[in-house]
Amino acid sequence: MKMKKAGLVILLISAILLPQLITTAINSILSRDIELPKNNLKFPRPTGAVPRNILENKETNIFKISALQEKSPLTIEFIIDPELTKSIPQENIEENIKEVAKQASSIFLTQVGRRLEIGKVTFNIQPAEEINGQSVFGFEILNWLGKLAQTTDFIVFVTGKEIKSITGESKSGYANVKRHESDYIKSKESTILYNSDIKVIKKVLLHELGHNCGATHIDDDKTIPGAEKIESIMHSKITSELKYDPKSADAIKQNCG
Ligand SMILES: [Zn+2]
Repeated sequence: MKMKKAGLVILLISAILLPQLITTAINSILSRDIELPKNNLKFPRPTGAVPRNILENKETNIFKISALQEKSPLTIEFIIDPELTKSIPQENIEENIKEVAKQASSIFLTQVGRRLEIGKVTFNIQPAEEINGQSVFGFEILNWLGKLAQTTDFIVFVTGKEIKSITGESKSGYANVKRHESDYIKSKESTILYNSDIKVIKKVLLHELGHNCGATHIDDDKTIPGAEKIESIMHSKITSELKYDPKSADAIKQNCG
C-alpha cells in the first residue's frame, strides 16, 4: 500500500513538472538555435574558397623555396706547395685561403650565379720533380695537376715559386683553357702565386677560374674596339676592377653558371 501511494505521488509530481521541464528544454534548444546564426555571421563557416587559398599559399611558398634553391656550389681543392709552408705557417696559409674562397664565392655568386666552396685544402702532396725548381712553367704544373685524382670542380695549386708562361714571362697565375672545336669548355686545373695580400690572391683566383670556365683575355679580343681599356677580372693584367666584363661573364655562365 505504501508503495502504491508513493507511486501516485511521483506520478502527480511528474504530471505537474513534466510540461515545465519540456518547455525549458525546448527554450534552451531554441535559444541555441537563435545564437547559431549570430556565430555564423561572426565566424563564417569555411567554404571551398578557404582550402583553395591555403593551396595557393602553399604554391607560393613552393615557388619561393624553389627560387631560393640555387645550384650547388662549385667546389675547389687547393693544393698548397709544401715549399711554401717552410716560409709561412700552415695555419696562416689555410686561414687566408679560406677567406679568399669566401670572398671570391660572393663575387662569383653575384656575377655568375654559383657559389664557390672549398672541397679541401691539402698540404701533403709532393709535386712532380719538374715542379721543384725555383721557377716552373705553368703548363707543367697544369699537366701534373691533370694526372692527380680529382674529386672537385676545380683544382688549384698554390705556390711561392715563380710561375712562367711558355715564353718565359713571370705570371701571377696560370690556368687551363680547354677548347672543343670552336667552343671553350670547362676545365679544372690552375695555379696561383701566393701573396700575403688576400685581395691579390682573390683577383688572381677569380681570373684563373674564369679561364677554367672558358673565358679568354678581354684585352686580346680583336672584335671589341678599345678592348685593352676594358676594366675586367679577365684583363690580362690585374686591374682595380672586381667584375667580369659582360662578354667574359657570358662565357663563364655558359660553362659554370
Ligand atoms: Zn689570364
